[in-house]
Amino acid sequence: MTDPTPAVRDRTLSLPSAELPAYLYDLAALRTHAAAVREALPERVEVYYAAKANPEPEILAALGPYVDGYEVSSGGELAHVAGAVPGRPLAFGGPGKTPDEVTAALEHGVDRFHVESAYELRMLAELARRVAPGRRVAVLPRVNLPVADGSLAGSSLAMGGRPTPFGLDPTRALELVKALTDGTYPQLELQGIHAHLASGLEAAEQLVVAETVVSWAVGLGVPLAEVNVGGGMTVDYAAPERRFDWAAYGRGLAQLTEAHPELTLRIEPGRALTAYCGWYATEVLDVKHSHGEEFAVVRGGTHHLRTPATKGHDQPCSVLEVDAWPYPWPRPAAESARITLAGQLCTPKDLLARRVPAPGLRAGDRVVFSLAGAYAWNISHHDFLMHPRPGFHFLDAGRG
Ligand SMILES: *Cc1c(COP(=O)(O)O)cnc(C)c1O
Repeated sequence: MTDPTPAVRDRTLSLPSAELPAYLYDLAALRTHAAAVREALPERVEVYYAAKANPEPEILAALGPYVDGYEVSSGGELAHVAGAVPGRPLAFGGPGKTPDEVTAALEHGVDRFHVESAYELRMLAELARRVAPGRRVAVLPRVNLPVADGSLAGSSLAMGGRPTPFGLDPTRALELVKALTDGTYPQLELQGIHAHLASGLEAAEQLVVAETVVSWAVGLGVPLAEVNVGGGMTVDYAAPERRFDWAAYGRGLAQLTEAHPELTLRIEPGRALTAYCGWYATEVLDVKHSHGEEFAVVRGGTHHLRTPATKGHDQPCSVLEVDAWPYPWPRPAAESARITLAGQLCTPKDLLARRVPAPGLRAGDRVVFSLAGAYAWNISHHDFLMHPRPGFHFLDAGRG
């Protein structure tokens, strides 16, 4: 369990039932966390926030003082982030960029292009010539590098070096590097190398990734200004109090920057920055038995908070007891010690958390799901079954 912050708890208890479910974001908590992350990293490591993790304008703005820029992966994100945090540096990544999106990015003056294929590089070169004649365009080929097996034994996630639609095989990346340094594309400048090889990695694993990417990039033997080693810092939904070890990661990155004083290192975390600042708060509607198991059905469900369904985990949660019961009919209550929390959707997949220790849970009690600040609302299938949308509350203690 991760307890909601006092601001989230108070707001959850003060909302009328009809205003639940709701997403509550604690912006003060987000700032504190982002400041600690920034503090743990060496000065010469730049942080770009991967906007896809949570692009709410209030979140993007709150992160502003602690990040060097934002990574966007579509024309939609580009327009949205440029509007929400005007004037901040943007890196444009992602597979399948359309000519219209690349044109929009050039017109906006995006700082960095993470190029995913040889085709994309040719498209970018031609569009740059037409849309931004004479302007130098900074390019970082995205490389899909193998990372030594064994060093990442703890990670169950697909690593680089496997077939994926992302980035370039090392030999193909080499061809792009050559084309970017032999005058083939006079307007495009090889700024550096980009990689984002996996997600869900611990600090030691991230350092192996960073060392692998940096040594490959340095081994190219061409001048590079920066290497972006990606995001993917782990968030442990099974142990919500645990945090990625930013201090250990920062120490390792410091060694890497000292060994390569000519390079700027950049990371682009998403989940590990914003997951902890969001909560999905709701209310128990019904409690029932089914074949030996007890279920509580809550307002809302995985159409608002899809994370447990996509990742196959139990979303950490806490119960806030509510003693008032406004109805003339009896109030259902749990009889067993463990209750599975389901949503309102007509599918057995609509499970938020299984066998939660919540003895005595009653209809009308409130449940607050934590770690819902990243890949939560914005990855969910909101329209399925046409239930009302949740409310959104951006709490900012001390800032009104
Ligand atoms: C999704 C993504 C990230 C962020 O990953 P997290 O797991 O949220 O840290 C960073 N870079 C790229 C290219 C991505 O696709």
